[in-house]
Parts: sequence; structure tokens; C-alpha cells
Amino acid sequence: MNKVSNKCDVLVISPHTDDAEIGLGGTIATLAAKGRKVWAVDLTRGEMGTNATCDQRWQEAAEASSILGLAGRLQLSLPDGFINATDRSHLEAVVWALRTFCPQFVISAPDPVRHPDHVATRELVQRAAFLARLLKLQVSAPEYLRWEAGAGIPDTENQWIVPTVLSVCPDGEEPSVLFDVSDHWHLKEQALASYASQFLRGAGRLATHINDGGFLEKIERRALRWGNLAGKEKAEAFITDNTPVIDDFAPEFGWRS
Ligand SMILES: [Zn+2]
Repeated sequence: MNKVSNKCDVLVISPHTDDAEIGLGGTIATLAAKGRKVWAVDLTRGEMGTNATCDQRWQEAAEASSILGLAGRLQLSLPDGFINATDRSHLEAVVWALRTFCPQFVISAPDPVRHPDHVATRELVQRAAFLARLLKLQVSAPEYLRWEAGAGIPDTENQWIVPTVLSVCPDGEEPSVLFDVSDHWHLKEQALASYASQFLRGAGRLATHINDGGFLEKIERRALRWGNLAGKEKAEAFITDNTPVIDDFAPEFGWRS
């Protein structure tokens, strides 16, 4: 197990396009700049979104993916608003993604708002990470769209053990990991700007809590807060049950100075 070549370093699984950018766009851009292969899987087409069609949102996601340097991105067709962590077809879709991309790290990426899909996705990913190792569970590929500029999709393995599962840290929780995104924050801002239909008010768009101008400021304030905690300009935060186990105190591990 886990002898398969490094198909993907980090797999980001989110309910909706733009959640990855909101939650960890700076981390993705930083990793990509270091040559890490990061794939994103968006679980739904976002058909319940107040503004824009699914196709418009997917076009915006493609632009954002390119800005961040994603290796590739898929959009599945789970029902928007009804992601269910105990639904077998939803679990099997995520198991398929894990066995296909064989990530070393998987990160569920809701923004920390308590949207039911965001809450469900975290649990869905945790359950699927366990099920992905069960050889007798056979799954088939779900329906998906692929970001055309992204890399080709690898062959699917029969099982995969995900070494580390993380989630974007919700407000009010203690982060397990702080990721310094100071040098690549501008790319996160550019990627978020790609989602004009979601974050900007304009002709024909209805008012929502994320397009009043204050939402993007809130995202930056959060990064400044985590950055302050990290001793850096800006940071993104994650939680995990996978406590790191080490056998040396090496400075390159990333201890705060
Ligand atoms: Zn969302």
C-alpha cells in the first residue's frame, strides 16, 4: 500500500466551487509555487446558488484554478444543499477520488460558516478516508466535469490509505496547524476575484451575505488573526486528529522563531 507513485500531494475536497479558495487559497498557491501537486474536487455543481448558473460558476472556478496553480480540478454532481455523510453514493464518490488521486494529505475545505453542506463535507471526507482502505469495497467513477487545462486523471487504485486528513479550521476552534501564506496572499485575492458572480453585486444579481463587500474583508481579517498567532503576516489554519509524531527537533520542521 501507498507504494503508488505520487499522483497528488494534496487533495482538497469542498462542497462548492469557491470554498477551496476561501478556506485555503493561500495554502494552495504556496504549495503550487513549491512544485507540489494539488488537486481540487468540488462535490456539487452549486445549483442552489443564489446567483449565476452552474456553468458560469464552473468557468469562474477554472480561472481561479489557473491562478492558484492547481494541477487539476474536478466538479462532481452531488446534490447541492443535501450532502450527506452517511449516504453510500456520496461516500463512494469521495472514496473514488481518494483512490484515484492517492493524496498524502487530504483537506476538507468548507469555509467556517455553518452551511449544512460544509458541516457534512468534513464528516464525509473523514468517513471516506477510512473506507478507501477497504479492499472489498469496490466503487466506480461518479459523474464529473474536469477543468480542461488541468492534468489528466490517473488510474484508480483498489485501495488507498490517506496518511493525513485535515480540515479548514472553523472560527472558534483551536488550529492544529498554521500555514504561512504571506508571500502568496495576492494570488488568493486574485483567485477570489475570479468569482465575480458570487462576491460582487451587479446588474441582475441578488444580494447575499457573501456579496456585500464585507465578506472578503472578513476573510482577510481571519488570515491576519491566524498570521498574528503564527508570527507571520498572514496564515491559514487547519485542524486535524493526526497529531504529528516526530523523533527529532529539526529547525526545518517549521518551528516558530
Ligand atoms: Zn460552500
